[in-house]
Amino acid sequence: QQRVLTGITTSGTPHLGNYAGAIRPAIAASHQAGVESFYFLADYHALIKVQDPARVQRSTLEIAASWLACGLDPDKVWFYRQSDIPEIPELTWLLTCVAGKGLLNRAHAYKAAVDKNTLDGEDADAGITAGLFMYPVLMAADILVFNANKVPVGRDQVQHIEMARDFGARFNHLYGEHFRLPEAVIDESVATLPGLDGRKMSKSYDNTIPLFASPAEMKKLILGIKTDSRAPGEPKETEGSALFQLYQAFATPQESQAMAEAFASGIAWGEAKQALFERIDRDIAPMREKYEHLMARPGDIEDILQAGAKKARAIATPLLTRLRHAVGLRDLR
Ligand code: ATP
Repeated sequence: QQRVLTGITTSGTPHLGNYAGAIRPAIAASHQAGVESFYFLADYHALIKVQDPARVQRSTLEIAASWLACGLDPDKVWFYRQSDIPEIPELTWLLTCVAGKGLLNRAHAYKAAVDKNTLDGEDADAGITAGLFMYPVLMAADILVFNANKVPVGRDQVQHIEMARDFGARFNHLYGEHFRLPEAVIDESVATLPGLDGRKMSKSYDNTIPLFASPAEMKKLILGIKTDSRAPGEPKETEGSALFQLYQAFATPQESQAMAEAFASGIAWGEAKQALFERIDRDIAPMREKYEHLMARPGDIEDILQAGAKKARAIATPLLTRLRHAVGLRDLR
């Protein structure tokens, strides 16, 4: 049996990158036979980056509504909010005590923050919280608490899955075989979408196109995508074009081919942007209605999350009981 786990950080409004990179492939995979799907709202992770409680709460609601609007069936999968599962921080501590500090020193997110400080002439650890440093251990607990064995990720996250394997293997070595070691799944067809400024589209960069922006807002944002100064009639490059990459993420291969030809024959940027808007809206419009309906009923979303937490804890609680026993702690439950 395969257990696939996907989380989205509740750090802002979900965007087209979250949809094309995580939500759409995860929902497609959940329809396969023999797959148990776990989807969660990563609100403990959000605290690493966001110290605005209202933003975290709003994001939680928006991301939950997005998953549901995009077709997640809470009766067929495990759908929960990370902070509703107290076994996750509990396991985080058990794993912290077997995690090599040297390994964490090499984690990409931490290293990038240190490198930036060094470049800026600051103390290496200036402004870096222990939360950022420990993030891979929390992520390992997210995975291992459900013994998920497949974790779809972008390339930048592969290292974190390897760390989860490392911590799980060390724990197994010390205390007996409790964990199945997870594998990263990289879907080559899933591209990293660029944001409005050309960097990776990311909630933390505020450079996103919200998945369920109103049509008028989405159109306005798309018109603002950075392009070069080539005039109508001049051939355009698809390589490195944020506009083309976004188009490709929604279009069929045939449609993308046609757009590449339009680029070569000098389509005007305004026309290409209009085509991008129409292509995205064709996919999103039916889901937007569901999203708006759900957002108007936060109580219903909360009920779904509560039921999801209960279902998830039915797995996590007995595991933690076994683990507490294995490491020599008293049984709490
Ligand atoms: P944050 O800035 O808080 O990290 P984010 O918007 O970059 O947020 P996450 O919540 O960390 O995204 O990621 C959730 C999922 O969405 C992950 O599976 C990730 O690979 C995917 N994802 C995020 N951004 C993109 C993107 N620009 N293109 C494709 N997939 C993306």
